[in-house]
Amino acid sequence: MSLRILIVEDEPAIAETLVYACKEANMTTAHCLFGHEAIAELSKNHFDFVILDVGLPDMTGFEVCKQIRATSNIPVLFLTARNHEIDRIVGLEIGADDYVTKPFSPREVVARIKAILRRGEQKPTNAPQFKLDENACSIEYHGVLLMLTRYEFLLLKTLILQPKRVFSRAQLMDLIWQDAQDTLERTVDAHIKTLRAKLRAVNEAECITTHRGMGYSLKA
Ligand code: CA
Repeated sequence: MSLRILIVEDEPAIAETLVYACKEANMTTAHCLFGHEAIAELSKNHFDFVILDVGLPDMTGFEVCKQIRATSNIPVLFLTARNHEIDRIVGLEIGADDYVTKPFSPREVVARIKAILRRGEQKPTNAPQFKLDENACSIEYHGVLLMLTRYEFLLLKTLILQPKRVFSRAQLMDLIWQDAQDTLERTVDAHIKTLRAKLRAVNEAECITTHRGMGYSLKA
């Protein structure tokens, strides 16, 4: 069965070269010009991969990716025209899998798609089932709505948006306790502990991994 790729790119010439390269590699494609179209398309149809331009007419690729990540772990490859955008892509909050900078060779993009999907196949399939709703500030776990404090919510959200990534306590403090004056690293540990208890109440399987001397990650 051929892979289904969603291409989100507002420049027709670039989109065409991608469609062509994907076709050559036996992949099927759908193409959207707008971010909101892409989100609608993903909610209706099955895709294996998203190629996402950062500069779209109606919203940024970052916003599109965030909305995708609220419900899906589908691999996302960013297309970017500007070097300064790379910092955000590889940064903390986006949850992208990789990026290529324009101008790029379509073949390189196809090679990246294959590499990312190969990487994905090595993941265990029993990934924890989370559903994040950022607007409602709520998270469901295996279909059960979690009753979380503000910091527990922010902590779990951060882990969910980048599964497998190991966050140090200092990084989590910077990201989550921005407004707190004097957070201690053990504050992070304390919240991880209460969070684990709430998750365990829903499902026995441990989904937060402690990396000794490094920090925490979500099992993916
Ligand atoms: Ca663009």
